[in-house]
Amino acid sequence: MLEGRGRDATGGGRPVAFGPVRLSSELAQELVAHAIRDLPNECCGLIAGRGGTAVRVLPATNSEGSPFMYVMDPQEQLRMMDEIDESGDDLLAVYHSHTRSAAYPSRTDVELAFFPDTLYVIVSIADRDVPDIRAFRLSRGAPEGEQIHEEEVLIG
Ligand SMILES: [Zn+2]
Repeated sequence: MLEGRGRDATGGGRPVAFGPVRLSSELAQELVAHAIRDLPNECCGLIAGRGGTAVRVLPATNSEGSPFMYVMDPQEQLRMMDEIDESGDDLLAVYHSHTRSAAYPSRTDVELAFFPDTLYVIVSIADRDVPDIRAFRLSRGAPEGEQIHEEEVLIG
């Protein structure tokens, strides 16, 4: 096969369809408010959805308490994932904030992205007046240059 882009070994070859993420302006404001509340550290949490539409934001604790990275408290994360399951919603995204950099995944973000079927939403408050929210699919097992795929975020 003369294909330039090989399948990565971890993905099982199953393409995951995402399409745009729909986020109401209220939920977008909740994400930004959480990012500001947890300054100077990065915040993190989960977004529950139906289809590609966000329905709820579930703030979690950054157990690293760091301005440079986040690790979601594992117990809290499991509890919230169960809760999302039971409510009939989907786990739409894992979110975290960037306090001083653009809303783009860092090397660490890619390395610590353990859910290939989940979106990673990054809220940048580097410019507090113009927060930026972007969504990515992260494939940590993929070759360099193919690990980050952006998905459109429709706010409003
Ligand atoms: Zn990050």
